[in-house]
Amino acid sequence: MSEPTLYFESVGAIHLHSDFSDGSLPIPEIAKIAADKELDFLMFSDHNTLEPKRQGLEGWYGPVLVLIGYEINDPDDRNHYLAFGLDQEVGDGLEAAEYVRRVRDQGGFGVIAHPAEKRNFSEAYPPYPWTDWDVEGFDAIEIWNQLSEWMEGVTRSNIGWRILHPLRSIRFPVWETLERWDRLNRFRRVVGVGGIDVHAFQIKVFGLFPVEIYPYKVQFRSIHTHVLTSKPLLSNSGEKAVFSESESLIYEALRMGRCFITNSSLGDGLGFRFQATDGQKHFEMGSRINKAKDIQFEIETPLPGTIRLLCDGQVVVQDKGQELQFHSDKSGVYRVEVFRKRRGWIYSNPIVIQ
Ligand SMILES: [Zn+2]
Ligand SMILES: [Zn+2]
Repeated sequence: MSEPTLYFESVGAIHLHSDFSDGSLPIPEIAKIAADKELDFLMFSDHNTLEPKRQGLEGWYGPVLVLIGYEINDPDDRNHYLAFGLDQEVGDGLEAAEYVRRVRDQGGFGVIAHPAEKRNFSEAYPPYPWTDWDVEGFDAIEIWNQLSEWMEGVTRSNIGWRILHPLRSIRFPVWETLERWDRLNRFRRVVGVGGIDVHAFQIKVFGLFPVEIYPYKVQFRSIHTHVLTSKPLLSNSGEKAVFSESESLIYEALRMGRCFITNSSLGDGLGFRFQATDGQKHFEMGSRINKAKDIQFEIETPLPGTIRLLCDGQVVVQDKGQELQFHSDKSGVYRVEVFRKRRGWIYSNPIVIQ
């Protein structure tokens, strides 16, 4: 049997706002905070502008790789779409189908943001769900959005607790989104990523006093996206070519679905693995295996938890510990969820038996 390919793991935060839109700090300061939290990369998506990229703010900030995309919305301010890997904006005032198509045509990587958002605690902060599910050609969806989850659970009676305990408010991704994600993956690869949607903005509680929700340093301790790149990122020499090679490694891993999402406040997910083998070859997350033989799934977690393997959204095996194996020859979308302290800790991308 062939040896599995060696991959290199990097940990990042996706979907950040800076002072180029409604975030509260400049990009270099945010990158410094991320370095303290030992993040490897950040993916910024300010609203409707690639201006920070034009100003040359992409690059290495010490050990942190900063990539810059932007967040697009339609004329009704719905269907928010994160577009990365572009040199210029795709145009204003477009409908979702058109910007999804243009991002793809221009070689970008597009992510549906907070797809099932349902906030209802205040008219000042309405939800921005994805409504146009007839569109085709998006690369990924945000299966977990930290800000959405915080906002969705807020009520007048718990807002004080939630402001004091922002990390404990993060429990699970929205079931409706996971179900849709499983369905989409039956037909083609749709990658799942975690979004933190960090703004560190102030909200007015009951219209009275402003409170900062989630400073960046707190945000950076929760939802992370871990990517497995085919080579290590080449940090920090300041050369343009070195930056673009590292950038391509991250986008390649994301496009292939070689990534998983963790709530790092429940424990460091570094080292989690979900792989499959047919006895000859190894398959990583994101793989689509043509149905032929018996497939062995192998799961390893860096800390004990409750590990679940799902096929098409149904649990096929569950156990406590740090390892789990399972055999199957049944086609379906297989993915892993790991729980700690009765909350969602790790969500893998799927391996699909077609
Ligand atoms: Zn948004
Ligand atoms: Zn956003």
